[in-house]
Amino acid sequence: MSLPVRPGRRPAVSGRRRPPYFRSGVRGYTRRALKPSNLIARFSPDEVPADRQRHRFRVGLIEDEVGAVIAVPVVAIRSPRPGPVVGLTSALHGNEINGIAVIHRLMNALEGKLRRGCVVGVLVANVPGFRLAQRTYSDGTDLNYIMPGRPDGSTAELYAHRLVENVVRQFDVLFDLHTASVGRENCLYVRADLDDPRIYDIARRLRPDIVLDNPARDGSLRGCAGDFGILALTVEIANPQRFQLRYIRDAAVGIRAVLADLGMVGSVSIAERPPPVICSDSRWFYTDRGGLLTKVPGLLERVAEGQPMGTLLDVYGDPVRVYRAPYAGIVIGRSVNPVASAGARIVHLGKIRTDRPDPRP
Ligand SMILES: [Zn+2]
Repeated sequence: MSLPVRPGRRPAVSGRRRPPYFRSGVRGYTRRALKPSNLIARFSPDEVPADRQRHRFRVGLIEDEVGAVIAVPVVAIRSPRPGPVVGLTSALHGNEINGIAVIHRLMNALEGKLRRGCVVGVLVANVPGFRLAQRTYSDGTDLNYIMPGRPDGSTAELYAHRLVENVVRQFDVLFDLHTASVGRENCLYVRADLDDPRIYDIARRLRPDIVLDNPARDGSLRGCAGDFGILALTVEIANPQRFQLRYIRDAAVGIRAVLADLGMVGSVSIAERPPPVICSDSRWFYTDRGGLLTKVPGLLERVAEGQPMGTLLDVYGDPVRVYRAPYAGIVIGRSVNPVASAGARIVHLGKIRTDRPDPRP
């Protein structure tokens, strides 16, 4: 068998026929694009240039199977005057993306104007989930149940550990930005531990539709941040895998109002928005049979005790069940998917707080 003889050297290519990849300028560009100069191992606000301009980083957290670095995109603006470090995390659930646009809007508004401190946006906290347009990490782990991760744990635990250690621990205040899950919708609401008056104040100033008093759950990013002494709140911004301008705008303006209160920006007027409804407690209600769910009350609708909050039809259209509210409340979130197996969610009903009325207008 004879093999074709290959030349020992690449034949010289000359003149206009030279393909573009031979030109050194193009080759240099390719190398730069593949190895971004803003890749860092650990984010530190002290290393952000204090010029009130927007700086973009990629914080490398973990290597994938072929040794490529999975890096979270981070944007930060720092003022020359010292002050608090306010962090925002978005897409910790990879399909909850309204928060990304909130960070974009906020950074547009803050560039050149930050009076003190540093504002940091983690645009995509769960990069593998974001790529797959799914809530969980690529291995199916819900990152918001395993915080602060483990340095010697599974892939997701290691990723979570480094996200917390190398980024989140630098914050003094954390807004963890979420949305509803697939098949449901949320209003704009804040979940926070209102026993802490500083957190209560931040939650109110953000002017969401609802503030829900809710001690942080173990394993959540909010709970883990709280353990590190960070003032942490969860902001739920409408629906998954969508950009919803009204909610994005309201959340971004609300966060700017909090920054104004911290002396980090000039005053922000959100007076036209009503103060939030404060809920002392809430519960999800579920179907006990399968079928088609209809007549679920709308977001922010107030429901009296005993009022219907969902009718379940069988597949032929005959009513099987009418679910009634066991207490008077307000609809925080609701199912938007009529197809219901037994145990499907109906509404997330908040109990409006009456024992401790809001002292301020
Ligand atoms: Zn979420």
